[in-house]
Amino acid sequence: MRRRIVFLGPPGAGKGTQAQMLAEFLGVPVIATGDLLRAEVAADTPLGRQAREFMEQGALVPDPLVMEILKRRLAQPDCEQGFILDGFPRTLAQAQALEELLGPQGRAIEAVLELEVPEAVLVERFSGRRVCRHCGHVYHLHTHPPRCAGTCDRCGDALIQRADDTPATVRTRLQIYHQATEPLIHFYRERGLLHRIDGSGDIDRIQHATREVVVAQDDTQGA
Ligand code: ADP
Ligand code: ADP
Ligand code: ZN
Repeated sequence: MRRRIVFLGPPGAGKGTQAQMLAEFLGVPVIATGDLLRAEVAADTPLGRQAREFMEQGALVPDPLVMEILKRRLAQPDCEQGFILDGFPRTLAQAQALEELLGPQGRAIEAVLELEVPEAVLVERFSGRRVCRHCGHVYHLHTHPPRCAGTCDRCGDALIQRADDTPATVRTRLQIYHQATEPLIHFYRERGLLHRIDGSGDIDRIQHATREVVVAQDDTQGA
């Protein structure tokens, strides 16, 4: 079983949704740098104050800030048996820093799952995305609605639209994905870690394909 996993894919591809489901299956935590950064912004910490403007514009938060927050999180004891990274790494520099961070401790990444989704579908997903303002759980107005409109199934708090899910910001984020993050596909393919998964279609079917990669015994590449 592979327990140190990276989800790669454009914003809106369903990384958070799939990562959460896989985490329940594997019993390891999801580390979503976007969630960690939003928590820093909400708590108005010095790091949050530095990150805020980048996030509002849909730009990447500078690597040193992201690395600081990631290092802190990976040092927590619940990461010892594995972890799922969602939204990290997003640049080659981050991927290299991650290798340095994990390598010496024998905790290297075991699989990178790239969710492939056509751009038209992504736009659909962004526009309907709603998140719980308290626990961060992710819903969709049409494809994954809560049981009771506007209310989180898990904690009962209100669902909101993320401040950066506006059409203009989404365009910027997609551009940045192509420029800064897509080169990671090549980076991980070279290392024999890349597995491409069709991210369009039913959530449960995608999760099934994801678990197949994670439980695979052999080391053959899925891509
Ligand atoms: P999405 O779910 O749409 O991919 P995220 O929640 O992962 O968005 O990220 C939201 C924002 O947080 C990004 O647009 C960026 O500003 C910042 N961010 C998150 N992760 C990183 C990262 N690894 N490097 C730089 N910025 C990041
Ligand atoms: P990411 O973390 O990659 O930005 P999310 O997991 O937040 O993506 O998903 C984006 C939106 O699309 C959310 O509203 C989510 O509920 C919805 N969604 C995720 N996967 C699917 C799917 N396979 N089919 C339809 N909607 C989906
Ligand atoms: Zn909630």
